[in-house]
Amino acid sequence: MLHLVLTLCLAAEPGTCADRLLPTPLTPAACTAEAGARAAAWLADHPGLTLHGHRCAPLADLPALTLTRVAPGLFVHHGIAALPDQKNLGRIANLGVAIGQDAIAVIDAGASRAEAEALYAAIRARSDLPIRALILTHMHPDHSFGADLFREAGAEILGAPKLAAGIEARAEAWMDSYPAQVGHGALIGTRIALPDRGVAIGTLDLGGLVLDLTAEPTAHTDNDLTVFHAASGTLFTGDLVFNDLLPTLDGSVTGWLDWLDHPRPELRQIVPGHGPAPLPWPEGAKPTRTYLTRLADDIRTAIAAGRPMSEAIRHTHPEDAARWQGYAISHPRNASAAYAELEWE
Ligand SMILES: [Zn+2]
Repeated sequence: MLHLVLTLCLAAEPGTCADRLLPTPLTPAACTAEAGARAAAWLADHPGLTLHGHRCAPLADLPALTLTRVAPGLFVHHGIAALPDQKNLGRIANLGVAIGQDAIAVIDAGASRAEAEALYAAIRARSDLPIRALILTHMHPDHSFGADLFREAGAEILGAPKLAAGIEARAEAWMDSYPAQVGHGALIGTRIALPDRGVAIGTLDLGGLVLDLTAEPTAHTDNDLTVFHAASGTLFTGDLVFNDLLPTLDGSVTGWLDWLDHPRPELRQIVPGHGPAPLPWPEGAKPTRTYLTRLADDIRTAIAAGRPMSEAIRHTHPEDAARWQGYAISHPRNASAAYAELEWE
């Protein structure tokens, strides 16, 4: 089977171009016969782009992410543990794939249409089963911006009940700031997709492989959702656990610490949102817990001493700065978020 590949450029920046893959397998004859009409239909739905050609290509010729098996039927793509920039193109989050006997589920979509396409190519190198669901662990762009590609591939997009509102509230600001961070070319063809369905607690049976979905109380964000594979004791934590890259607080530091302190004897390993995976539980979550505990302690001390937020956020720990990627940028933001939360305690 072949896939249709479009060469597209930004209308506003004609020198910035990229290949985009349409995630529908086609026979060689169908690809040739339908290419023009399919390209025109896709383009009509994606304003701001110009078409500079199209071709039919086998997936093996296209960029693919690397998938590592972490349990029977479960695979992880390891993101680069750094803040998004023009070198890593925002591809910093760990992404998951679950392949059952009947269907496939994807856990997080990556930072762009381009990253999602490369994840799709990696999945199709292993299996032709239908991609039934894309599960988003939370709203942040590095996890969610590739979602539209999987909808096009036929997946239902699932997330926590508050995910849609979280994305809607921030979509405009993200589309203003994110292209400058990762480069306009990295986002060609990327558009924000809202989930089809909110799930508080749910089960997804892929045929011999069952995933349990749980929307969590406000912690990293107010729309965190975890994915558990009971057969292997594997929990995809999303950004409830970070390693190497500093945790970013966009929800509640007390809620996050509550989540980390909860005993979970059913867990054998976790796949965190960032950094090496899999990791043992609870050891793998310890750096996140240590950082957030100290953050909360420091901010409570500052508030008790009557120090203003502007002063509290300047307080840093050299050992944290040495240990965590992104500390200089993310720590002051975390401190101000924690201050705003804890001053009302
Ligand atoms: Zn996040």
